[in-house]
Amino acid sequence: MERDLIRWLRQRLPPHPLLRLGPGDDAAILKMANLGDCVLTIDMLTDHVDFELSKIDPRLAGRKALAANLSDLAAMAARPLAGVVALALPRQGAMDLAVAPCEGLLPLAQQYDLAIAGGDTNSWDGPLAISITLLGAVTNRGPLCRGGARPGDRILVTGSFGGSILGRHLTFEPRVAEALLLNERYELHAGIDASDGLSLDLNHILEESRCGAVVKTEAIPVADGARRLAETLADGSTPLDHALGDGEDFELILAAPPQEAKKMLSEQPLSVPITEIGEFIADPGLWQIDASGLRRSLAPRGWEHT
Ligand SMILES: [Mg+2]
Repeated sequence: MERDLIRWLRQRLPPHPLLRLGPGDDAAILKMANLGDCVLTIDMLTDHVDFELSKIDPRLAGRKALAANLSDLAAMAARPLAGVVALALPRQGAMDLAVAPCEGLLPLAQQYDLAIAGGDTNSWDGPLAISITLLGAVTNRGPLCRGGARPGDRILVTGSFGGSILGRHLTFEPRVAEALLLNERYELHAGIDASDGLSLDLNHILEESRCGAVVKTEAIPVADGARRLAETLADGSTPLDHALGDGEDFELILAAPPQEAKKMLSEQPLSVPITEIGEFIADPGLWQIDASGLRRSLAPRGWEHT
């Protein structure tokens, strides 16, 4: 089965300048001349946790797995280089289930000039699991980390938040080009991709930067999906609740000094809007401030990894 998959892959993989030797040998060989610091990241997606295979086109599971990994490279402002893909396959229909996720991720790999260098498969009595490891290159502007936010920095976000479960979590565009452009053109102090939930991911920046933040809830760009989900669920949750805690928006959350933030907001250099949603402060803790100016504690909510 694995040999069939490798044969199938080799027929479809376009040549890539980084690949001295691609899939088929015991290991791949990359041409790595003149590369500076590299970023290495891994993400595993599983049926019933990250997608429901019985309800979706299996190609979307592969696409999501790669897109989520690319989003982590975006969060570091790193350029995608190469990746390896591991699949744990249910014994029933293993070959079809191996091909479909690959079909879903190959166009995305090509779009981001990512070399698929190899992979591994196993069949077992469990559900489909897709694990992807990516290598990225830090640009001469340096990496974007979680630990650099300073009091006074503005909190900026790309796009909108909430309700991605209605479909966007499978089809989102990782903000790779956006992160590279912003990191090149502006002074950014910190960044993260919003995978777990806006409030929880912002809190990850606070923990690493050892500071606090005040979020202007009125300013948060709430996605249409968040409104639709609140309406559909009718469980008392508001669109704002969904924007703050749903997760899998895969947008960027950035810290930038005030003057730089002002420039980014007026220039709006991306095809998605950049919005200022608050400010980092010296006091620890996450706070929300509403339109009336009332400041309350904001509990970070979202996906907690087990
Ligand atoms: Mg991340």
